[in-house]
Amino acid sequence: MLELYNTLTRQKEEFVPGTPGYVGIYACGPTVYGDPHLGHARGPITYDVLRRWLGYQGLKVRFVSNITDVGHLVDDADEGEDKIQRRATLERLEPMEIAEKYTWSYFDELQALNVLRPDIAPRAAAHIIEQQVLTQELIAKGHAYEAGGSVYFSVKSWPDYGQLSGRDLEEQAAGARVEVLEEKRDPRDFALWKKADPQHLMRWPSPWGEGFPGWHIECSAMSLKYLGEGFDLHAGGIDLQFPHHEAEIAQAEAAGHPFAHYWMHHNHVLLNGQKMAKSTGNLILLSELRAKNEPMYARFYLLGSHYRSVLDFTNEGLEAAKNGYLRLINAYREVRRRLEYAPEGHHQGLERAIDTLEHDFAEALNDDLNTPQAIAALFEFVTELNKALTEKPGKGSLARAEKVFSELGEGVLGLFPERVLEKQLGGELLDGLVKMLLAVREEARQNRNFRLSDQIRDRLIELGVQVEDTREGPKWKVSL
Ligand SMILES: [Zn+2]
Repeated sequence: MLELYNTLTRQKEEFVPGTPGYVGIYACGPTVYGDPHLGHARGPITYDVLRRWLGYQGLKVRFVSNITDVGHLVDDADEGEDKIQRRATLERLEPMEIAEKYTWSYFDELQALNVLRPDIAPRAAAHIIEQQVLTQELIAKGHAYEAGGSVYFSVKSWPDYGQLSGRDLEEQAAGARVEVLEEKRDPRDFALWKKADPQHLMRWPSPWGEGFPGWHIECSAMSLKYLGEGFDLHAGGIDLQFPHHEAEIAQAEAAGHPFAHYWMHHNHVLLNGQKMAKSTGNLILLSELRAKNEPMYARFYLLGSHYRSVLDFTNEGLEAAKNGYLRLINAYREVRRRLEYAPEGHHQGLERAIDTLEHDFAEALNDDLNTPQAIAALFEFVTELNKALTEKPGKGSLARAEKVFSELGEGVLGLFPERVLEKQLGGELLDGLVKMLLAVREEARQNRNFRLSDQIRDRLIELGVQVEDTREGPKWKVSL
């Protein structure tokens, strides 16, 4: 039984999908105006594991995660330039070229982290009609008003506003900007539609004149479109709770569309004690990390702490994650290697260790997706496995061990993609083959068969293998 912490009720609750067998999840995606950093990866990796875990239990999951390519303004109080347009001016590109460029960069980095692609990744700019329809419904029901070519949601008209974030009216007002747009009836009101200034590039016709949608309405319209009313789960970063998610709920429900039943929020990734953010420049780009390390180390690192706790990134932490990861993947490789030639039969100790792993792993993930606990169960299993391996366990148990690595380690936690396993296996095979050739060459030299030894050296060089004769014997490296 899966329990998740529901931000809406502030407690762990059993997760019961509205339609048995099916789960609809919406996760707020990025505003695509820059290369993604490590902080951006935490949500996608968390919800990737959730999605895989539900799928492993036989549920059919539809995972929707949007791309914000319009409407996210520099200033959260409905003013300032559009973030994408500002970047477009800097890079001398069309706003949509910027959106395209950074959408790809986002998905490329997530793919390197073994995050499955969303089933649907709707672009906000491709859903202007849906957002306008929702806005019109809100005006018709008296929850929104037009002013000066813009449309605002009337917070006063919706007493439930504040239910998700737990903010009362005074706190909301204090959170609003001191300088308030005059056309707003209440400082807490937020834009559903904004009139476009003459210099604003991204603009669409509307019943209220040329303009563009507010950032919050995008997610209400797109989640309802693809998941339907009363969908199961809405996820996002903790800083989106207010106002973004609060506004999403108000827009949908005030228009008469019941919204998500469960809300999940992942916490920040800190660097130097501060939140990683594009706006402050305090960040590590995923592309930088990838240039120096296997990206799976970063995935493993992030999953090593619970999604609701703050993660303080350090290089030492990454190094520890790397070592832990290698310990697990090496055990997996060893099991795969042994399977080839192991005798028939079972090993009691290993069978017991697998049973324990299956039990502890499920218990961990069912407890509000406790990935560090699930990883701890994997480590305990590997300790028992390594013990068992000294006793040459039979094929039956090794096949089961292989299955838990593949189904839980890769299938659910997404830790061992074939790409990485192959790289590791290929590396070992190559090393063995080159060392064998070098031994043959050494023997040829000792027998003064220089023709053969030179031939081996030349062939290796042609293949990009550099051989260096040292006092400890020949060493080699691939020079590509
Ligand atoms: Zn959103």
